[in-house]
Amino acid sequence: MITTAKPVIGKEEKDAVLKVLDSGMLAQGSKVKEFESEFASYIGSKHAIATSNGTTALHAALLAHDIKQDDEVITTPFTFIATANSIKMAGAKPVFVDIDETFNINPDLIEEKITSKTKAILVVHLYGRPANLTKIQEIANKHNLIIIEDCAQAVGAEYRKKKVGSENTGCFSFYATKNMTTGEGGMVTTNNKEVEEKIRKIIEHGSKEKYSHEFLGYNYRITDIAAAIGIEQLKKLKDFNCARRTNAFYLNQKLKQTKLILPNITEGHVFHQYIIRTDKREELMNKLLEKDILSAIHYPLPIHKQHAYKEHNHETFPVAERLSEEVLSLPVHPSLSLEDLDKIAEALE
Ligand SMILES: *Cc1c(COP(=O)(O)O)cnc(C)c1O
Repeated sequence: MITTAKPVIGKEEKDAVLKVLDSGMLAQGSKVKEFESEFASYIGSKHAIATSNGTTALHAALLAHDIKQDDEVITTPFTFIATANSIKMAGAKPVFVDIDETFNINPDLIEEKITSKTKAILVVHLYGRPANLTKIQEIANKHNLIIIEDCAQAVGAEYRKKKVGSENTGCFSFYATKNMTTGEGGMVTTNNKEVEEKIRKIIEHGSKEKYSHEFLGYNYRITDIAAAIGIEQLKKLKDFNCARRTNAFYLNQKLKQTKLILPNITEGHVFHQYIIRTDKREELMNKLLEKDILSAIHYPLPIHKQHAYKEHNHETFPVAERLSEEVLSLPVHPSLSLEDLDKIAEALE
């Protein structure tokens, strides 16, 4: 069976985990600190704070930027639910803006949604493809808005030669299917010392000093077991992302004679997903399955149409709605062999 995702875990990760288990320091030990400093230097940000997962990274980042009740945060309806949920978790209101053909938020539609309550833009680099940060930054500067980047699918992705999450507060996920994994895990990157200090408190029940609690916080910490895996995964990330791009190039080459709309291989794209567009999605998924190839839909229902977002159900975002009916994710992960890729291409042809 060829799956859509497959974590690559080697001897290095296994040895690192055993060392942590033998050390007796399973949490709040030296591995978390080491993972954070390695990650900050990889991304090119001043600080990095590890969290229990990508959702808690987003929630903590929004709180640290003082996003609260009655604030509005602009984001995309075409993303994993956690993006918008984190805004609601902070007590604020998500304000959706349609996407364009890049699958990311359409910068030209942002300004008309800005009100006196707008505090931030939560940008998502969907599928590992960087959003247009230049345009978004211009809008943010003009209206004095904070930018927070949801980099959950884009660890190592670059926009104009800089890693996403290096210029603004960035939130990452190390869930099992992401480009690097710790099982569950997350990270916030920031260049702002105050934000860093606040996040450290938020993820520790609102405390800096043990048992002295300044405000309501949470337990959003990562374990040393997960951090030890993360340190090893980070060393391999460059190769993982390189393999994903190579696989995407290969599939594009193999599929160029078909009627499928193939992904653009833009600079800095790390292909968390390889997305084709088709009006024969069901048929293709079944054909692939017959050949033991799994495919997936990211995402079949935009967030504004979800039951959990009833108050947004009347809104319409034509591009997000159309693309949600056409997108199909094919396997692109680093463990695929040339044989696997040929098999996928042949099945589609
Ligand atoms: C995976 C993901 C998240 C959440 O990360 P978890 O670690 O699963 O909590 C947030 N946003 C996007 C776009 C994601 O793909």
